[in-house]
Amino acid sequence: MTIANMAAEAPIVSVPFEIERVRADFPVLRQEVHGKPLVYLDNAATMQKPRQVTEAIDHYYRWDNANIHRAVHQLSERATQAYEAARNKVQHFINAAQREEIVFVRGTTEAINLVAQSFGRSRLQAGDEILLSHMEHHSNIVPWQLLCEQTGAVLKVVPIDDSGELLLDEYERYLSPRTRLVAMVHASNVLGTINPAQKIIELAHARGIPVLLDGAQTVPHMPVDVQELGCDFYVFSAHKMVGPTGIGALYGRREWLEAMPPYQGGGDMILSVSFDKTLYSDLPYKFEAGTPHIAGAIGLGAAVDYLEALGMGNVAAYEQELLNYGIEILAQIPGLRFIGTAQEKVGVLSFVLEGVHPHDIGTILDHEGIAIRTGHHCAQPVMERFNIPATARASLAFYNTKAEIDVLAAGIKRVGELLG
Ligand code: PLP
Repeated sequence: MTIANMAAEAPIVSVPFEIERVRADFPVLRQEVHGKPLVYLDNAATMQKPRQVTEAIDHYYRWDNANIHRAVHQLSERATQAYEAARNKVQHFINAAQREEIVFVRGTTEAINLVAQSFGRSRLQAGDEILLSHMEHHSNIVPWQLLCEQTGAVLKVVPIDDSGELLLDEYERYLSPRTRLVAMVHASNVLGTINPAQKIIELAHARGIPVLLDGAQTVPHMPVDVQELGCDFYVFSAHKMVGPTGIGALYGRREWLEAMPPYQGGGDMILSVSFDKTLYSDLPYKFEAGTPHIAGAIGLGAAVDYLEALGMGNVAAYEQELLNYGIEILAQIPGLRFIGTAQEKVGVLSFVLEGVHPHDIGTILDHEGIAIRTGHHCAQPVMERFNIPATARASLAFYNTKAEIDVLAAGIKRVGELLG
């Protein structure tokens, strides 16, 4: 019996977090790499998929494949039903007030581009300000830079301290009468820092400024409640939360989405088209032009089911335990220095090793069957802030174990002995 099945029969709070059962749902973890058991610690880049997700996608293509919203035939009705059911699942998972507030997009990156081009382009003028932090992923920088080029708006960047925490006093100082939007990462993919989202929103809203949060690294790792947060936009990617690539979600408060012009034009986003005048569809379809990633949405729905069955509170507690263990064990390795030591963190262990380039760490660990990420992690300004070219990053998921962290630590020690 799988965790998902068990949860259907028992209240979620009583589901035990049985790691071996969880791991059994992930066939990919049962393999050897270079003759060693795979230790997958690149979860911030993308997470592995449980068979419940791949089976949902397989089922759709095998039995229900049809285009949605357009035909009266059985297959189209089934496909439409499954696609829209996925929207409901996402709505409940992040506790959005209405299903119309969930727009399916390609992922975090597309969601931010959508907000920049639709919300931003229709509202911002020369001299207006967009407030970011120094720990943003490139996908929460470049779309705003493009918008600035188009409108004459300017980016303002709130600094962070040496532990990788946002300087809240500075943040407050940066909120100006010209600030039109705050766009910040909820948890950093490089440092692991969980930003004080509630405080960020409270301070912005007190000045009438809307807030977008990049939840790519939070939605998979902790409970997220967009109504409790009170944010205006929240964005995330399915592939980082055990779902498929090529799909993600934009949550937007209804008032904003209603007021925003379409992002792309095409089929499915219209009520009627003539050469004189086109009327757009209601939410959320106004923002879903063309045939969407139907199988992806269905896979995302299955991913949500899987995570809900585990319980996001359980996931967060378990990953926190792993993180604390990782910090304790890795801190003992000679020459290792953590980058990102904030008090509130998701399970990201970024580090540098004295005298060794991170790329070499990654290559040697790969030969031990250990998958980590090395480089700038699509966050070059963070590298610049810490005056380093790159880090090695081990990022955790609920299917990882303390034993795997021991293997990682042994691998890093070996790297130090070989090259340090
Ligand atoms: N934001 C953060 C914090 C991320 O970690 C990532 C991916 O690593 C992204 C945005 C971009 O996500 P995607 O490439 O799925 O659009």
